Amino acid sequence: MARRRQIYEGKAKILYEGPEPGTLIQYFKDDATAFNAQKRGTINGKGVINNRISEHIFTALQTIGVPTHFIRRVNMREQLIRQVEIIPIEVVVRNVAAGSLSKRLGIEEGTQLPRTIIEYYYKDDALGDPMIADEHIACFGWATQEEMNDIADMAIRVNDFLSGMFAAIGIRLVDFKLEFGRVYDGDYARVILADEISPDGCRLWDAKTNNKLDKDRFRQDLGGVEEAYQEVARRLGLLQPDEDFAVLDLDEHRKKRGK
Ligand code: UDP
Repeated sequence: MARRRQIYEGKAKILYEGPEPGTLIQYFKDDATAFNAQKRGTINGKGVINNRISEHIFTALQTIGVPTHFIRRVNMREQLIRQVEIIPIEVVVRNVAAGSLSKRLGIEEGTQLPRTIIEYYYKDDALGDPMIADEHIACFGWATQEEMNDIADMAIRVNDFLSGMFAAIGIRLVDFKLEFGRVYDGDYARVILADEISPDGCRLWDAKTNNKLDKDRFRQDLGGVEEAYQEVARRLGLLQPDEDFAVLDLDEHRKKRGK
């Protein structure tokens, strides 16, 4: 089979040229990184699960009118997406204190925040994704004020929707990261949700036990990483009680058997 042209390889995903202009194929890897890629590892079956979870969430968001890059899932590890011009900003939404917020401001992890916080980080691995303010975004022209208004509105809508969706399956949405991109209609640019939404970029705690069901299990060497990702998929109804995504990942099985 002719090799597809690779457009970009990131830490957890690879982008290939899509079948039509303006489209890409997003491939989900099992690779995991943390602490600005100082910690590296593999979470077996993660790519398969994140592909499914992200499909589920992006499809649901589209039904409430949040525009996204998602077109359709094509197989276990790949989805067809719209090509966007990525806005170099990571948008973090927080409902409960955890991670860098707790560390920076000395607020105990697990403290419910009196109001939702939106933070911005400049996407630059070499700089370690520094936190930035609206002023920096305007000053350096990373996005227009109008785009930032749209981004903040979408982030709040996504948070409201996802908080409810996870609450219904006994999961607390502590915080999460979003990325946005521009699509062009002639000269007119529109911002849409891009990247992925999965346990890689969200903090998800069991509502009863506060057990972590996300990448913090990998970051903090808590064990049971694969099981946590599977548990999220199972509660979302994407995995039958006795199913294991690793078993369903036929591509990987064939590779391992050398076929
Ligand atoms: N996050 C992410 N990618 C990053 C940084 C953060 O997906 O490069 C997510 C992270 O999983 C968490 C939220 O954004 O759900 C807030 O992360 P935080 O700022 O607390 O940073 P961390 O503790 O992960 O360093």
